[in-house]
Amino acid sequence: MIGNRRRFLYQPPLPLTNANNEWEEIARTGNSEKISTSIYNATQTINGKKTYIVRDLLKKIYYNKCVYCESIEFKPEIEHYRPKKSVTGVKSHPGYYWLCYEWTNLIPSCRYCNTEGGKGNKFPVIGHRVHLPIFDSGSLEKTSCRADSQYLLGEQPYLLHPDIDRPENCFSFDNKGKIKGVDPIKRGSNTISICNLNRDNLKYRRQSIVDRIVVRINDAFTVYFMIDQSEPHLNAALHQVFQEMKDNCNPEKPFSLLSIFAFNNFGLVITPLLATTIQKTFTNNAFDEFLITYQL
Ligand SMILES: [Zn+2]
Repeated sequence: MIGNRRRFLYQPPLPLTNANNEWEEIARTGNSEKISTSIYNATQTINGKKTYIVRDLLKKIYYNKCVYCESIEFKPEIEHYRPKKSVTGVKSHPGYYWLCYEWTNLIPSCRYCNTEGGKGNKFPVIGHRVHLPIFDSGSLEKTSCRADSQYLLGEQPYLLHPDIDRPENCFSFDNKGKIKGVDPIKRGSNTISICNLNRDNLKYRRQSIVDRIVVRINDAFTVYFMIDQSEPHLNAALHQVFQEMKDNCNPEKPFSLLSIFAFNNFGLVITPLLATTIQKTFTNNAFDEFLITYQL
């Protein structure tokens, strides 16, 4: 997961706002069976091309990625941050049915993260759990439905919200691709277990990003030792690798939170994987020089 403030730059898409009457009825009656997938799947055709209005806006905002695991996902499912029909492990809770069409409750996710092996309907909280919507003069109080409302934030969810929280402060990574929670109230470690973010498939793909950097650094030293023995050439080759690391931090890249951590903690993640003390020292110095050159 990576933090993202872009959602608040966009108005909720029309299929959600146009569903106001249906939304009010569901909130009033508590009948979650009335929640309609046709609203999430509403389409429009522009220049002969059919697009899914809600899904495609979520895709755009989140760079075609699953918010939870940061895999590239061109056909994301629309996941409910607060589950709409039931809450895993809380039998008495009917689900947050009244948040069904609330924009800030919708998250693009991969199939795995949207099922019970991943995040599914899990939503553990630290604080007092909210069971009911708020009404004002008979109408649903919409501001209390926003994920950043005081009403809902009072629950103190364990699961981080990409638009509200700063996931970058809650996680670290090792050089095997394993993610770890680091914040004192354990929202990071709980988000990992809720979404199963250390499943083998993800660890393998995160590790391969680290491995590729190490291979490229080793290749630069091989050229230096075996072919030209030019320190300026070696420095230039290493700077190209560091530039790739920096590019990997862009939010549209898969697993960019790992890359940000590796870039900010080079000596912790990358250096130990280098073969010799000479390589480690030279590479660390070259990395420091790269940071100074680009004022990073
Ligand atoms: Zn995912």
